[in-house]
Formats: sequence, structure tokens, C-alpha cells
Amino acid sequence: MSALLDWIVAYLCRWLPRAAPTGLVPIGYPDEGAPVLVTANFSLTVARVRRALRGRSVWLLVANSSGINVWCAAAGGLLTHHRVIDAVKTSGLAERVGHRRLILPALSAPGVEVEPIREATGFRARFGPVSARDLPAYLDGGERKTEAMRRFDFGLAHRADMLLPMNLPVYALVALVLGVFWPQHLLGFTVLFWSAVAVLYAFVDVIPGRTGWGQALFSAMLVAGAWAGADALVRGNPLAHRGWLVATFVIFLAAGLDLAGTVSPRRSDSEVWIDRLGLGGFGGLFAERDLGTITLDEDRCRGCRSCFEICPVGVFGELGPDRKTTFRDRDACFSCHACVTQCPEEALSLATPPRAAHRRAVRSSG
Ligand code: SF4
Ligand code: SF4
Repeated sequence: MSALLDWIVAYLCRWLPRAAPTGLVPIGYPDEGAPVLVTANFSLTVARVRRALRGRSVWLLVANSSGINVWCAAAGGLLTHHRVIDAVKTSGLAERVGHRRLILPALSAPGVEVEPIREATGFRARFGPVSARDLPAYLDGGERKTEAMRRFDFGLAHRADMLLPMNLPVYALVALVLGVFWPQHLLGFTVLFWSAVAVLYAFVDVIPGRTGWGQALFSAMLVAGAWAGADALVRGNPLAHRGWLVATFVIFLAAGLDLAGTVSPRRSDSEVWIDRLGLGGFGGLFAERDLGTITLDEDRCRGCRSCFEICPVGVFGELGPDRKTTFRDRDACFSCHACVTQCPEEALSLATPPRAAHRRAVRSSG
């Protein structure tokens, strides 16, 4: 019962750091030949990896990520090869297994380099699938990834998973105020809020707009317009519910604040504003990233395919006739830095757009 409660709290509060114990965890009855999977010490992640591996015998090496999930921690410098090296050395892993192989979570690629791990520990690390639920198939398939295992699709399942925990804090805060001062509006707010969130999360791929706020504004205009139109027909007054029309805009814009970053590879408006308010270094998570264009120096590329293996959105294609990597969908790049970090030849870079370069120059000159 307490494990279930713990999971519910971890799920609903997934936007908060929540640390699980670090170290080596046996799952099933692993022997010295069992695979070693690495993960971050975010409690929800550890619980999900353990659940995905139920019935198997593997070692789970939980590295310190300050209680933050794999992707955010790796992007924010809180899950690095140094922390994986620490985990290997302090867990006694080398005495427990006869091989020297680690399987890293694919989304740790922006922050974890494999070569320093090999040099410091003798363990050869490779990146496994993006999603924990693919781990059994990955292990059964000889530790080879299918195309689907490489991708983070931001699909409906991901959005449904994020909908409740990412919006509950705003809902709870407003509901508390309404419940105390204007309880007669609580039900209407509840229906409007969760309907707005559901619409945005379900149709984020097709709602026009470049940013989450832009999409939220467009949606609010449609809903408010339809509502006003219905009131004009039925009541003869398009502003019969003027208070709720205003609330529609406020609620949609609140729901859109973190929309892009939560359910798409775009940067969320909240991240942009945190940067603009000069809080870029807060927690290491909102550090200003160089949202640039992925660029290949063909002379350096030697066709190792690391970039193809690690890109979560399929930017890279097959090798060209000269055995250099090629771009399959360059526009899909969202500057996660994974391929830049992993390219052993430093052949990839993210060209900084002029505005971001200017902003950084101004800051460093201060
Ligand atoms: S990781 Fe670097 S060297 Fe390897 S294929 Fe990609 S660009 Fe070329
Ligand atoms: S191409 Fe872009 S999205 Fe893909 S791994 Fe590189 S930086 Fe990330």
C-alpha cells in the first residue's frame, strides 16, 4: 500500500525532483553474466524501469541525477559520465559481473559521454532504447535497437501520461482560491480547465501556431468565438457569459505556458521566459541552450553512425556513397545536443542563431 501511495505521489509530482537511492539494484536473480542497465535516480524512472524488467534477471545501476529524470538531468548537466563513473566505482559492480558492458538510457546522450566511462572504469557503454517499456524487446533482440526504439515520438500515450501531473498544480491552486472565495464557480472552472488541457494535448500537432502560447491563443479564440456565437443565437447577446469568455482565454494561456516543452520537441514558453528573466541557470534545467541549426563537417565525419543511433527524432539517414552521414529530416532537429556530444570526430555542431549569440555576448561582457 505504501509503495502504491509512493508511486502516486511520485507520478503526480513528477515535475519535482524526487530522489531514489543510488547504487546497484538486483532485479530477479542476476548472475555475473547478467546485463547491467543504468538509469537516473528519479524515483518515477526507477519504478518504471523496474516494472518494465519484472520477471527478468538484470542488474540496475542507479546513478545520481539529483532526483531528476534522465532527459532533463542529462540536458541540465546533472546526469553526466562523471556520475555514471561514480556509480560504477562505488557500487562494486566490477566484482559482481564478469563482463564489462553497460546499457545507458538513450536520453542520457546529451550529457553522458561513453569514452570517459571506458577510460575510468573499463566498462564499454552503449545507448539502449529511448523508452523503458522497450527494454525487454531490446534485451531479447540481442541488444539491438529497432527504428521505433530510437525515437521519442511525443505521441498520444506520452501526452496522456503528462496531462494530469503537469497541469494539476495550476488547477489545484486556482481551485483552492475558488473553493474558498467563489465556490459557485468551481465546477465551471473545473470543466473548462480540463477541457482546455485535453484539447491542447490531443490536438497539439494540428493546432496552428509556432509556440505553445500561440496555439493556446488560437484555440481560445475558436472556443470563445463558438461560445459567443451560440449565445448570440440562443440569448440574443454574444456577451451573455462575458466572464467565462475572459476565463477561457486565461485558462487556455495558462495551459499553453509549458505546452510546447512538455508534449513536443519545441522549447516551452516558460523556458523562454525564464531565460529572458535572467534565471537561465536555475537548477541547471533552464540553462540557455543554443537553439541552432545542426551542421555537419563532412571532412571530419568517418561514418560511425553514432549520430544516427542516438538522435531521438530521426534527423540522420543512411550513410552516403562516400560513407559520410546524411540528413534525412534536418528540420526535425530541436537542438538537444545528443549527437554533438556523442560524435567522436567533433564533426557535428549547432550553429548559433545571431540573436542568441548576441544575447550571450551581452551577458558575458557584463
Ligand atoms: S557521429 Fe560524427 S563521425 Fe559518426 S557518423 Fe555521425 S557525424 Fe560522422
Ligand atoms: S540532430 Fe538535433 S535533435 Fe537530433 S540528436 Fe542532434 S541535436 Fe538532437
